[in-house]
Amino acid sequence: MTRAGALVVSVTRGSQPNCSGTGDAVSDNFDVIVVGTGAGGGTLAHTLASTGKRILLLERGHYLTKELDNWDPGPVFVDGRYISPDTWYDGDGTPFQPQIHYFVGGATKMYGAALYRLRPEDFGEIKHVDGISPAWPLSYDEFEPWYTKAEWLYQVHGSHGEDPTEGPCSRQYPWPAVSHEPRIQQISDALEQGGYHPFHAPCGILLDEAERPASTCIRCAWCDGYPCMVHAKADAEVVAVRPILDLENVTLLLNAEVTRLETDPTGRTITGVVVDRGGDGKEEVYHGAIVVLAAGAANTAKILLRSASDAHPAGLANGSDQVGRNYMFHNNKAVSAFGEQDNDTVYQKTLGINDFYLPALGQEWPLGNIQMLGKSNAGAMKGEEPHLTKLVPHWSLAEAAKHAVDFWLTTEDLPKPGNRVTVDREGSIHLDYTQSNEAEAAGLYEEFRKILNHVGLAKHHVLHKSYYMSMNIPLAGCAHQVGTCRFGSDPGTSVLDINCKAHEVDNLYVADTSFFPSIGAVNPALTAIANAIRVGEHIAERLGATGAGAWAPAQRGALAQGAIAPHAATGISRDR
Ligand SMILES: Cc1cc2nc3c(=O)[nH]c(=O)nc-3n(C[C@H](O)[C@H](O)[C@H](O)COP(=O)(O)OP(=O)(O)OC[C@H]3O[C@@H](n4cnc5c(N)ncnc54)[C@H](O)[C@@H]3O)c2cc1C
Repeated sequence: MTRAGALVVSVTRGSQPNCSGTGDAVSDNFDVIVVGTGAGGGTLAHTLASTGKRILLLERGHYLTKELDNWDPGPVFVDGRYISPDTWYDGDGTPFQPQIHYFVGGATKMYGAALYRLRPEDFGEIKHVDGISPAWPLSYDEFEPWYTKAEWLYQVHGSHGEDPTEGPCSRQYPWPAVSHEPRIQQISDALEQGGYHPFHAPCGILLDEAERPASTCIRCAWCDGYPCMVHAKADAEVVAVRPILDLENVTLLLNAEVTRLETDPTGRTITGVVVDRGGDGKEEVYHGAIVVLAAGAANTAKILLRSASDAHPAGLANGSDQVGRNYMFHNNKAVSAFGEQDNDTVYQKTLGINDFYLPALGQEWPLGNIQMLGKSNAGAMKGEEPHLTKLVPHWSLAEAAKHAVDFWLTTEDLPKPGNRVTVDREGSIHLDYTQSNEAEAAGLYEEFRKILNHVGLAKHHVLHKSYYMSMNIPLAGCAHQVGTCRFGSDPGTSVLDINCKAHEVDNLYVADTSFFPSIGAVNPALTAIANAIRVGEHIAERLGATGAGAWAPAQRGALAQGAIAPHAATGISRDR
């Protein structure tokens, strides 16, 4: 992993995103302190930046280095170059290395940028084979305006109205859907002929197809699971964090791991954010009128649990005993189907199918979503399935990859109180987890096999990959982690209120995927982004600030400089 030298002072301000070692003095008093710079924290800071309020972003990682390795499946998939060296433990106490990424931009540096909305039904109660997926305290219609803002901020390409399961939208995507390359178009046509309803998948990439089709652009081939060396992926660093670093009121501190939060004796107010600068045990304390945790679902729970005090003996804001519980991360399966026909697709992630998302005639349970993965290659196959591919020569894997069409199957898992994050005395995360809805996942796979018959892959050979970037430990694949601090109206059963403020603390908010009461069966990032904008706007209102808003470039004033304006992007983000 490419974390910079631990003790380097890393105050980042203005247009010097790597001004390490300057020794700049940082005020320790802010209006808002945001912990984490990923989908939640980066977006929330972006939303608040234009208010002029003094914002401190605390990020435990550094910038992800732009280097050729970004696009090399060897370092990325085989060596795990960008995965944190953390050790977590499963329910039996067995150690594993979680596939987690500590950088400016968080997990979005590696994400596939498939930016889906949850379906309206996901906001209500849904019956599953293994239990109930609970209702959210907000309806889809109430949440919808922030989905639109999120899609515009993250430059999503798509076509609202194609997928029969999607809810109403107040505005079309800022960019037209990325067009299918010939092999994927063939698959889409065949699916339609078979009576399915394929749609163009929503993709967050910085690309103008009028100037350059995705297929001519090698950088887009591998964005799923790889960092983008030319910053052409709409990740939180590129879209949300970098554009605000010129502002005087925004400070970013790198290598700044928040270890705990301190409160006043009543426990109602956070008085200090305790930071470890580089793991030498030396602490710094920062003060903010409002503190927002967005460290990712597992780490946010960890910070709260480690902040236990006399006022909060079971962990900060944990009178409900819900902090760390209800961990979810989807039942996912990545499948490569090797047909007889070549698949020379470059940007493969353009197609989705939701025909099995909801219960239907002859289908009792909701089964989930099918979408495409980034195009596989021999190196990635070796990394994902080291045992299966060990004896296969590279040339023959390369030949196989030429034929591979790669799919990603997602089934919802349920919020179970026993699926939980706890922290031991040394501060290590323990993740107890039992999968749910396996019968639904099997049902989706059955339907998927029927689909293959319609798309020219009837004589396929299927390589099962146990998990994304598999390390053969499914629990380690925590890319879609959510749910450890769910929001709700009842302080007895939820950690956060409807604005994602902790029920028990007056100035503490959570703005990452922890807040999800259920996970649905589509990728979580757009919902985290939309919610971060929502919570950011609420905080601005609470502070009596005006000018919050991330999505309309005209309103962003200074922020518009360096941001990527809709319909004017060049296919490559400005890299300042
Ligand atoms: C390989 C991969 C592919 C994915 N593909 C998709 C996709 O296509 N579509 C989709 O919707 N989702 C995808 N995801 C998931 C998506 O990236 C996450 O859901 C999203 O980034 C979660 O946002 P977050 O704010 O909760 O956490 P993150 O984005 O991970 O941000 C957490 C931040 O907090 C920082 N941090 C952690 N602990 C501390 C601490 N103690 N102090 C200070 N900082 C801290 C981290 O370094 C990080 O910057 C993918 C994820 C991965 C890993």
